[in-house]
Amino acid sequence: MTHRTAVIGAGLAGLSCARVLRRAGHYVEVFEADRIVGGRMATMRNGLVPYDHGAQYITARSAQFREFVDELVGSGYAAAWTPRVTTGPNNQQGTVANWYVGVPGMASIVRPLAEGVRIHTERQVHTISKGPKGWQIWFADKSSAGPFDAIAVCVPAPQAQLMLGPLNEMASHLARARLAPCWALMVRLDERTLPEQDVYSDMSEGIRWIARNNSKPGRGTRGETVVVHASPQWSREVEDADAEAVAEELWNEVTNIFGLPAVQPSQMSAHLWKYGLVERHLSESFVYSTEARVGVAGDWCLGRLAEHAFESGFGLGRSIVNSLD
Ligand SMILES: Cc1cc2nc3c(=O)[nH]c(=O)nc-3n(C[C@H](O)[C@H](O)[C@H](O)COP(=O)(O)OP(=O)(O)OC[C@H]3O[C@@H](n4cnc5c(N)ncnc54)[C@H](O)[C@@H]3O)c2cc1C
Repeated sequence: MTHRTAVIGAGLAGLSCARVLRRAGHYVEVFEADRIVGGRMATMRNGLVPYDHGAQYITARSAQFREFVDELVGSGYAAAWTPRVTTGPNNQQGTVANWYVGVPGMASIVRPLAEGVRIHTERQVHTISKGPKGWQIWFADKSSAGPFDAIAVCVPAPQAQLMLGPLNEMASHLARARLAPCWALMVRLDERTLPEQDVYSDMSEGIRWIARNNSKPGRGTRGETVVVHASPQWSREVEDADAEAVAEELWNEVTNIFGLPAVQPSQMSAHLWKYGLVERHLSESFVYSTEARVGVAGDWCLGRLAEHAFESGFGLGRSIVNSLD
């Protein structure tokens, strides 16, 4: 009998979980709220201009993720990026090793994981419930999908808590994780404008990251594309502010930091990652109830990086396979 598993969330965690299940011969369906897959591993296009407005690069410490990164590089979905980096207001300079980026954008990182998987986009899951034949998934419009033998919930902790329905104990366990918002600013300049370095990190209290996006391989736009990430504290203070006002304020701060002349960007927009950066994680690879056959995975289980999301989803997938086989 083929086991049927539903994965909720098509970020790195959900898609790495789905791949493990599919490779083990399970029937898998992925339900994603957004129009596109990838979650915070994202590339946004404004016209033809791409911006990596979520994760900036990936690193690989574990053998498992290293193997995946090698696979990405081998198939042309990723390449090394060696930016010149300045850190802190005292301008400490250096280069980095073993940073990889998706090509042509960060969203390419999830591409090989999504291949051959049945993914439903624009399907925001509201809750899950247990029926006589298995788990049922309920959407906001009151339609449902199922039955499934197991469910993998691979969304940020606060969103997972909302949908766990009857699994109160698991939901309250997740309350220990904490994610901070992050405002991202995307700017295009017709001329090269920033100083020499490609990345400036921790430049002020309000700004955590400034990157010349087109210094990454395969971006190749004329002029300059810049991605700025505000600090968690600043982002939290203006979480409810209007995106246009936030964009203006962040760009003013960037021009102040570099002492730039008043340049008018040809494109400028801001995006809020409501559950952006992990501030406190569970220190567990994933959470799974073999009795209920429901589990949760995400970066926030294990750490704060893409590789943690991948490993969390991978581990949950393996546990589901072991509990059903
Ligand atoms: C600004 C920023 C910069 C970062 N920089 C780096 C970096 O440089 N290096 C690094 O390693 N990591 C970085 N990260 C972290 C990295 O992006 C994450 O660790 C990783 O992408 C998390 O993957 P995930 O699958 O756990 O979650 P997500 O990517 O958040 O995926 C969750 C998915 O679930 C979907 N979803 C949510 N609710 C529902 C629902 N109710 N129904 C259906 N679907 C739902 C979401 O739409 C999303 O697609 C950064 C993150 C941000 C925000």
